[in-house]
Amino acid sequence: MGRIGIFGGTFNPVHKGHVRLCRQCMQQLSLDSMLIVPAKIPPHKDAPMLAPSRERIEMLKLAFSGMPVEVSDIECRLPGKSYTVRTLRLLKEQYPDDTFYLLIGSDMLYTFEQWREYEEILKLACVVVGARQEEEYRALCQKRLSFGALSDRILILRIEVTEVSSTEIRAQIAAGYSPDEDWIPKEVLSYIMEKGLYQPFSEAALCSYEQSARRALRDKRFYHTQCVAKLAGELAVCYGADERKARAAGFLHDITKEMPVPDQLKMMQESAIITDKSVFANANVYHSVTAAITARNRFGIEDTEVLHAIRYHTTGRAGMCLLEKIIYTADAVSYDRTYKGVQLLREEAFQDLDRVMFEVVQFTLKKLVKDSVPIAVDTVSCYNEFCLQKEK
Ligand code: ATP
Repeated sequence: MGRIGIFGGTFNPVHKGHVRLCRQCMQQLSLDSMLIVPAKIPPHKDAPMLAPSRERIEMLKLAFSGMPVEVSDIECRLPGKSYTVRTLRLLKEQYPDDTFYLLIGSDMLYTFEQWREYEEILKLACVVVGARQEEEYRALCQKRLSFGALSDRILILRIEVTEVSSTEIRAQIAAGYSPDEDWIPKEVLSYIMEKGLYQPFSEAALCSYEQSARRALRDKRFYHTQCVAKLAGELAVCYGADERKARAAGFLHDITKEMPVPDQLKMMQESAIITDKSVFANANVYHSVTAAITARNRFGIEDTEVLHAIRYHTTGRAGMCLLEKIIYTADAVSYDRTYKGVQLLREEAFQDLDRVMFEVVQFTLKKLVKDSVPIAVDTVSCYNEFCLQKEK
């Protein structure tokens, strides 16, 4: 009968807090081995900027190399959210005679009663808790007592604390800083840099946006997306905007366009503050709102200019920044467009972006009026702003 540790988490990315917790747990409890189980979709918290499972697994292998530890892909292979109780049941089938010790950090103990079938988890494994902050030990012992009879199944480790989180590391990398070497194994950091992980505008990230668009869209629309990204990048270079941000917005601007309309409406109602009722009245506008929500929630993009460029690429608005104008215009005159006069407009976009954009806004307004379609207030404001500028 062996003593097996099980350490689950998002590991997005793995850091030295994880490695030290694992090492101290193995030593103190004399464990024979430890299974590290990255979650495909964590059930207990949001997972912004979630790196693909295979990348997180590779980083875990680098971080734990040389330790008697196995990285398991069991949760990554299963569909749906990675509930711990399900994983433990499956592992019990594989290791029926062994005793399980489920390792968690202190933040997880405070929410443990919200985990699916947490009482069952405590039957399947002893829960072993490590502090994440200095002087947390006593508070954890207190919390343990609140589990009553089940508290016997919870062990609080006395460990040397490492105050670091994956969130801090991702934020530092995204902002262009190199995280403290006390926080993250250097092999893991090199891997992150090589693959461009957590850098929303690295070439690797752009490639992943393009691939996501490929999966989400039919051939014709995907080709349009590629054309918009190309032209947006060229216009960005011409006007001194950030080329990679322009391409990112280009790849993502239509990412939800083929999502069913009711799903888009639900997403808008849940995640966006929209005061203009006409936006809800015109389903052709939904995708610009839902694509911006997706860029933020699924791809972890926080850059306001990029999010606005996606959000307003259909309606326009008053006070658009350069990147917003570039995406709006690139969408209207992209290389796949074939309407009469488009080639000239495309060429002129490199000389006078505002003029071409104004022409597109006028054309759009005329068409909406002709078709008796509700017009978003933002489009009218955008038109008015151009008119007033012209007068000046
Ligand atoms: P994020 O910042 O993205 O929420 P995280 O740093 O908390 O991530 P996870 O992958 O969610 O990392 O954590 C996996 C497990 O490791 C959890 O049980 C968590 O409580 C624990 N843990 C994470 N960081 C530490 C740390 N610095 N010290 C001790 N335990 C930790």
